[in-house]
Amino acid sequence: MNNYYNFYEYVAKYYLGEIIKDACLKDYCTLKIGGKCLCVYKPNSVHSLIKAYKYIVRNKLDYYVLGNGSNMLISDEYHSCIIINLKNLSNYNIVDNLLTVQAGVMGNVLSKKISKQNLSGLEFLSGIPGTIGGMIYMNAGAWNHHISDIIESITYLDEFGKICVMEKICDKGFGYRKSPFMKRHVIILSCTIKLTNDDNAFNRYLEYLTKKIASQPLKSYNAGCTFKNPLNQSAWKLIREHANNLQFNNIEISDIHANFLVNKNNATFNEMIEAINLIQENVYQNTNIFLELELTILR
Ligand SMILES: Cc1cc2nc3c(=O)[nH]c(=O)nc-3n(C[C@H](O)[C@H](O)[C@H](O)COP(=O)(O)OP(=O)(O)OC[C@H]3O[C@@H](n4cnc5c(N)ncnc54)[C@H](O)[C@@H]3O)c2cc1C
Repeated sequence: MNNYYNFYEYVAKYYLGEIIKDACLKDYCTLKIGGKCLCVYKPNSVHSLIKAYKYIVRNKLDYYVLGNGSNMLISDEYHSCIIINLKNLSNYNIVDNLLTVQAGVMGNVLSKKISKQNLSGLEFLSGIPGTIGGMIYMNAGAWNHHISDIIESITYLDEFGKICVMEKICDKGFGYRKSPFMKRHVIILSCTIKLTNDDNAFNRYLEYLTKKIASQPLKSYNAGCTFKNPLNQSAWKLIREHANNLQFNNIEISDIHANFLVNKNNATFNEMIEAINLIQENVYQNTNIFLELELTILR
């Protein structure tokens, strides 16, 4: 434990950002489930993050990177690790239609700002409550677009704290809710995206947002789609047809979108796991299709 206290002192000594000790992770995710952790560390710059991350690696401290927690199911247990949160790395700039954006920027907010400037590329991210870092990690997408389709390059910190740049993204193993970062332990810092001039961009942003508001329970506590869509199938349709009559105490299969599980009244981690298991069992028994999780679990 001493090493962690030394980490707090190190961060304070070199002004590397904010430390929130004993933070409750319920407050750091959209599903509002999760126990306390040793600390949340919010770096105040990339330079600070690199220095702090090298300390973490050197001293073999446990850590986990959290974006906006909008695709997370976090256990109620105590998490003896440093939660790295990049919300304060939230700058972006545009030069000759090339957008450079830091990982902590919220994708939905950026999508609105950029399309309002008659620049096109990010409209499909409207209404998705994730950070750019989380979106790259998950390869988020909607309406047949994926974030990997529009990215030119990604800058990340590798396992040793070295800055690396990934280019030619299309050759690098991105797929449906799949990125090459899922097999590694890296921190995504920023990316570049080529935008095009388009007077209709903001209208398109609004169209996507209207469709999203009509088809997803955006105002409740949830973590987006629980399961990935199996090939040529919709997970929500399979749940609607084969698991819709399941009842849980504090969790609800959303009426608006059956692939969204809603925390309606202080649900626990175990209740979510039970609901997930039962839905998977019911769908499998009736169809022979196993619904794979889209949610990321932090135990
Ligand atoms: C109402 C609602 C609607 C949604 N709609 C959609 C949708 O239409 N399409 C879609 O694809 N998703 C959707 N989602 C899910 C979610 O918003 C996306 O998966 C999003 O990309 C997650 O980003 P995040 O910042 O919240 O990441 P988190 O949930 O915090 O983290 C997800 C994973 O990414 C990793 N990660 C996060 N940031 C970094 C980083 N900087 N470096 C390395 N790893 C990192 C985490 O360790 C974790 O493994 C929705 C969610 C909600 C709640």
